[in-house]
Amino acid sequence: MSGRGAGIVLKTLTKQFPTSHLHSHLISNLTKKKNLSSEERKKEAKKLKQRSKSRVRVRVSMPFLVRDRLYFGNIGDAAAVLSGGGSDNGQEITHVLSLLSSASISFFSEWKQSISIETEEIEQVHVAGDESPKRSLSPEKLLYLKERAGPDLKLVRMAVPLKDTEDEDLLDYLEVCLDFIEEGRREGSVLVHCFAGVSRSAAVVMAYLMKSEKKSLEDALDSLKEVCESVSPNDGFLDQLKIFEEMGFKVDTSSPIYKRFRLKILGQAYKEGTRIDGSVFEADPGLSPGPRPTPEALTENSHEQDKQELEQQRQQAKKVAYRCKKCRRVVALQENVVSHVPREGETCFDWNKRRYTRPFNPSEENECSSLFVEPMKWMTAVEEGALEGKLHCIHCDARLGYFNWSGIQCSCGSWITPAFQIVKSRVDISTA
Ligand SMILES: [Zn+2]
Ligand SMILES: [Zn+2]
Repeated sequence: MSGRGAGIVLKTLTKQFPTSHLHSHLISNLTKKKNLSSEERKKEAKKLKQRSKSRVRVRVSMPFLVRDRLYFGNIGDAAAVLSGGGSDNGQEITHVLSLLSSASISFFSEWKQSISIETEEIEQVHVAGDESPKRSLSPEKLLYLKERAGPDLKLVRMAVPLKDTEDEDLLDYLEVCLDFIEEGRREGSVLVHCFAGVSRSAAVVMAYLMKSEKKSLEDALDSLKEVCESVSPNDGFLDQLKIFEEMGFKVDTSSPIYKRFRLKILGQAYKEGTRIDGSVFEADPGLSPGPRPTPEALTENSHEQDKQELEQQRQQAKKVAYRCKKCRRVVALQENVVSHVPREGETCFDWNKRRYTRPFNPSEENECSSLFVEPMKWMTAVEEGALEGKLHCIHCDARLGYFNWSGIQCSCGSWITPAFQIVKSRVDISTA
């Protein structure tokens, strides 16, 4: 512990962390795996149970070395590093990734008055100023703050404002975090920390392991637990990491999985009283004909053949347009449709019980008398802020359907929440 800053007493965490949420999550995930006999399933469940039991331990030393040049810890570790210490085993920490509810360095002195850390800002990037494609976060939100910090301003700190709650949007911060970890490991060593070193930092480090080592969510969690048994990302983060896995270890904002996630986030924001303005709506397909290029949709790592197939599927899907029956104006493209599995009850938008793999299939789709779509810029009634209302064609004013932030039940029985519904009998499908 020689490198630690003087005057900082590291808190030893003696709290025992609840295991039941995670456990039931893993079990419920497990039951979704195909081709497992009930016997095998029981065995797997038993293994998981044992695994979660071993998690309840006392944490004594931090930060933890996760991989070469990659550390993981709590606010005490970060405070020690930022106020003048390196790490214990020769790999001096040069980069700190802070995942705290506030990006400001004053968080540390508010935590402990004796701490003062010198900083000099490098950049502040807000969601709107980021060049990446549309996110679920509102444009005015801070994406990250980057600064030089510590003695002689030798360290680089990136702070990402992130709360440890289940409905916090982790996905949209993930890629900037992973890029910073990469940068840190290239130029020195990086410490990823949150407050307790249990949920937020664990989730981000897991995403890093998933991406860099092509690990499943479960394997990444196991691997991190070998280093630190008490890690336990909250259930919302675990669900989002599952989405990350299913998108091929990246955040593909054009994928249906992401669109569903985004709608869910929008629905939550509405529920909490945020005014949802048109800036977060999808473009009006009636004004922008033709497919939008989505190069980021292609996985860098997939084979050339897969790429071509994927691109073909995408192009085909994009050619499908839904037109107002009365005036023929395009009101939605296939890419705007947020598909659901017929008769899935209330589960289709529930993060814990999602199913995404089923592709668009016209014969199955016949059972549903409505389409559910993303909110688009022509839906002026939605912008006015009502909880629910009718959707009219912006060109001829014909009634096309309804919207309701608290959900609409499809004719198949599924509840879609929030719902932007277009009644199929009021539109024509064209493939031109
Ligand atoms: Zn349906
Ligand atoms: Zn019309």
